[in-house]
Amino acid sequence: MTVNDSIAAIVSAQQHFFHKDITKEIDFRLQQLGKLRQAVIARENDIMEALRKDLNKSEQEAFSTEIGIVYKELSFIIKNLKRWAKPKRVKTALTHVGSKGMVYPEPYGTALIIAPWNYPWQLAISPLIGALAAGNTAIVKPSELTPNVSRLITAMFEETFDPEYVASVEGGPEVSTSLLEQPLDYIFFTGSTHVGKIVMEAAAKQLTPVTLELGGKSPCIVHEDAPLALAASRIAFGKYTNAGQTCVAPDYILVHSQVKEKFISHLKDAITSFYGKEPLANPDYGRIVSEKHFDRLSGFLNNGTLRHGGNTLRDRLLIEPTVLDDITWDMPVMEEEIFGPLCPILTYDQLHEAVQAINARPKPLALYLFTENEDVQDYVLSSVSFGGGCVNDTLMHLATPFLPFGGVGESGMGSYHGEYSFHTFSHMKSVLKQTNRFDFKFRYPSKNGLGILKKLMKP
Ligand code: NAD
Repeated sequence: MTVNDSIAAIVSAQQHFFHKDITKEIDFRLQQLGKLRQAVIARENDIMEALRKDLNKSEQEAFSTEIGIVYKELSFIIKNLKRWAKPKRVKTALTHVGSKGMVYPEPYGTALIIAPWNYPWQLAISPLIGALAAGNTAIVKPSELTPNVSRLITAMFEETFDPEYVASVEGGPEVSTSLLEQPLDYIFFTGSTHVGKIVMEAAAKQLTPVTLELGGKSPCIVHEDAPLALAASRIAFGKYTNAGQTCVAPDYILVHSQVKEKFISHLKDAITSFYGKEPLANPDYGRIVSEKHFDRLSGFLNNGTLRHGGNTLRDRLLIEPTVLDDITWDMPVMEEEIFGPLCPILTYDQLHEAVQAINARPKPLALYLFTENEDVQDYVLSSVSFGGGCVNDTLMHLATPFLPFGGVGESGMGSYHGEYSFHTFSHMKSVLKQTNRFDFKFRYPSKNGLGILKKLMKP
């Protein structure tokens, strides 16, 4: 059997299983989400070990950003699923008196979830929770760049689910390409904007609905009134977690010129307090995923003026938390998403200049603004379009199940987490249930029909 044949067989088995209508029962879904939770609990140590091998993630980071966040998502969805999944009655228009309007959330069928390597556990399992909660079957394609986590996902699925319900298909772009050729019912992709376009093109051939969770350069504005020490700590946390390999990491800083020096000094202090004087010797400091990414990032180290860090260890794929000052928009580090522990600093004097510079570029996945001035907050939030973000913090908006998480424009389309995941993986089927007790004749061709319609459907 070729890889293509075995992929086609998995999709066909899942579609066959889906049509048995078992996944449409809410109790079945809750039972399977419970099984998933037990499977994760039983493998907590294995997950941490795999993340340590693939990315040198510390136990604390692995738990907070990969495991704990999945538990939160699971318990929130399990708690609310019955309510979300109920058919909802909606109001009826005046022209529809006597009828009932109903919205039935229904699963799409077989969902494909393609995951990236930077949070290889969470970004595969979180969308899966939404797909299963909504009653779909699911195929997950983990990232080939984190092979230990990829193998663990496959093993966990094999030991927990029937492959006709949940399956993992491992491999790189060739395997993704083959999966995308299948007659799928939903595609949920997390990864780069470049590959997102390829995925959408493939989906368009079969008009398969897609969610695209992509990346880009997320700005971080530090206004002159910001409490600088606190801002620096929260920015260092967002920038250097997972060695900067976070889709919503603040990519670059736009700081008011009056407070730049003070801010940089606090940023250096925060870095030293988190990772020590020698981060490369810190056993808990994350590594870069591959030589290719290491070399790409090393190429940016001579941009602007080095203010902190800059040391590297190629044999261990480590790059110190680094601060680059005197950066201009035309430098290579500003031309693409950095996705590493390098923090370029740009300055502004007038806030509208900073806003204009951001708006001249693709809509970012995240934006962070540090200021206590509410007028400034209102101005930035209403002038810039971005996926989501924080005022006076970084990253934390994605760690709550109450907020939708997703991009806009080049940073993606659609969103998930909590109820938004349920909606993403559900088609909202609308049905009008008409009464047979009476029949309004005015809709039929007749002499006085138009007059009545004009009264009922006034502008
Ligand atoms: P990537 O786009 O290279 O790969 C993502 C997935 O797509 C992998 O599973 C990979 O095997 C697959 N793939 C690669 N080439 C493909 C092709 N030609 N056709 C089909 N599938 C293909 O991304 P990555 O390097 O794994 O992740 C980094 C990117 O992901 C960054 O841009 C980052 O911002 C983004 N990201 C976004 C989010 C989010 O939630 N919005 C989260 C994490 C990462």
